[in-house]
Amino acid sequence: MIRYGDERICVVIGRTRHNMVQVEIQEAAKSGAQMIELRLDFLAKAPDFRRLLATKPCPLVATVRRPRDGGRWAGSEEDRQLLLRQAIVGGFDWVDLEIDVAEQIPRFKDVKRIISYHNLHEVPEHLEAIHEEMCQLDADVVKIAVAAQEPADNLRVLRLMRKPSKPTVAFCMGDLGIPSRILGAKFRAPFTYAAFNKERGIAPGILSYDEIKRVYQYPRINPETKIFGLIGDPVAHSLSPLIHNTAFRSLGINSVYIPFRVPRAALEGFLKDFDLLPVHGYSVTIPHKEAAAEFAQQKDAAVTLTHAANTLVRGEDGFTAYNTDYEAARESLLANLPPGPNGELGSLHARTALILGAGGMARAMAHALQREGVLLSITNRTPERTHRLAEEVGCRVVEWPARHSYLCEILVNCTSVGMHPNLDDSPIHPGALKPGQIVMDSVYTPETTLLVKEARSRGCHVITGVDMFVRQAALQFQFFTGREPPLDLMRSVVRRAFSPVVLRDEE
Ligand code: NAP
Repeated sequence: MIRYGDERICVVIGRTRHNMVQVEIQEAAKSGAQMIELRLDFLAKAPDFRRLLATKPCPLVATVRRPRDGGRWAGSEEDRQLLLRQAIVGGFDWVDLEIDVAEQIPRFKDVKRIISYHNLHEVPEHLEAIHEEMCQLDADVVKIAVAAQEPADNLRVLRLMRKPSKPTVAFCMGDLGIPSRILGAKFRAPFTYAAFNKERGIAPGILSYDEIKRVYQYPRINPETKIFGLIGDPVAHSLSPLIHNTAFRSLGINSVYIPFRVPRAALEGFLKDFDLLPVHGYSVTIPHKEAAAEFAQQKDAAVTLTHAANTLVRGEDGFTAYNTDYEAARESLLANLPPGPNGELGSLHARTALILGAGGMARAMAHALQREGVLLSITNRTPERTHRLAEEVGCRVVEWPARHSYLCEILVNCTSVGMHPNLDDSPIHPGALKPGQIVMDSVYTPETTLLVKEARSRGCHVITGVDMFVRQAALQFQFFTGREPPLDLMRSVVRRAFSPVVLRDEE
């Protein structure tokens, strides 16, 4: 019988040196691990069970993976099976046996057996038959790890866990497969796998123990948990899962927010496929903002105006699209304007502003500023896009090279210049920045861009992209849940994610 512990996370440790394995076992246990898999195939020398099992803080799984299953075992198959047998009698609590060797290695005392199938290339057509066959074997847990080729592969593996005849851990590898690694918990998977040390290349797409526990709060996910997510490509480094999951947790809402990598042109199929789960709401990012606006059955005024949506909320009559970038851009500028000479609230009306950029962010910003009565100009590297956007919102065009000499009270960077990893780039020469000028950067990774640094040192009034990022997420959260978002907490969790300090439990 499997123990459904609080954690339900099997922490995978794979190191070449015994002493590092010992260190990581203790570290993982200190962080709360209740089950640890030791990848014996990673060890450079023959495993010394006496050392590995000396101070065993929780049940340990012995795994010796072959290269064809994604492992590093370099010896003969005979030696590998001998090592597995030695691990079984040597004190491990669990052993992982691949489907084709499981019957050759008999059950021993109360050592539990994971029977596994790996496919590093695809999700095979006959996956369901393979699973059925595995359930007939002498397994305590059946494990299936296959390589996702498209987002819908997640649904195929999740379906295996609906009513399996043996407890099943099934997931897709690769970044397309991340949803299945998290959502197994909703389908009563006995546990999921997480890397203690992701840098070690344990398995493609595996999340770290810290991420799955603190960002996704895996131990809290159950069959009633509602699903929300981010759709875009790429999505791997987004802070949206951290910000939304933290907010869910702080308000005691039983929901989880997951990144879905959805390649360009795959949006419509994805939304229809995943409606089966269902997913109750999405944040939408590049390259799907325009397609999401088109796909939605209902749209708010900002979406109608900008033809782009960054939020989809599922309702009885299909999806409603919102553009919270638009409102957040406006709010962020207004909330951070310096007060007037008599302490009155700052206003945007009749102030001169220049937007750098003509992409999605620039469009939301331009419409928002136009609505506030700003005397607006736009400049962009590619002139055709500048003219198109200027015509759409009805404002002036400044040629890209002329941006340095254009005088304005408010300068807003809506290009991606300065964004990670191009930290040494700025969209404008520092000499063009004037003391007292309001400079807003929409880039938020990092928060302190080169533009932000230079604007501060020139005495400008600076607004960073983090404020707007938090506001657009907070508005999304409100649409998702109907609850007041914990704005300060959302802001602090993002700021802390940018600092080297590790997130602590109170978040
Ligand atoms: P986008 O639609 O791809 O537009 C990118 C813009 O950047 C275009 O105007 C592009 O000019 C310009 N650009 C890119 N590389 C450039 C370079 N080397 N030199 C000059 N211009 C360059 O992207 P987006 O959605 O508008 O996002 C833009 C930035 O805003 C990103 O950094 C994004 O993270 C940020 N953003 C922030 C928030 C927030 O909440 N703070 C929300 C959304 C977006 P061309 O037209 O010439 O290619």
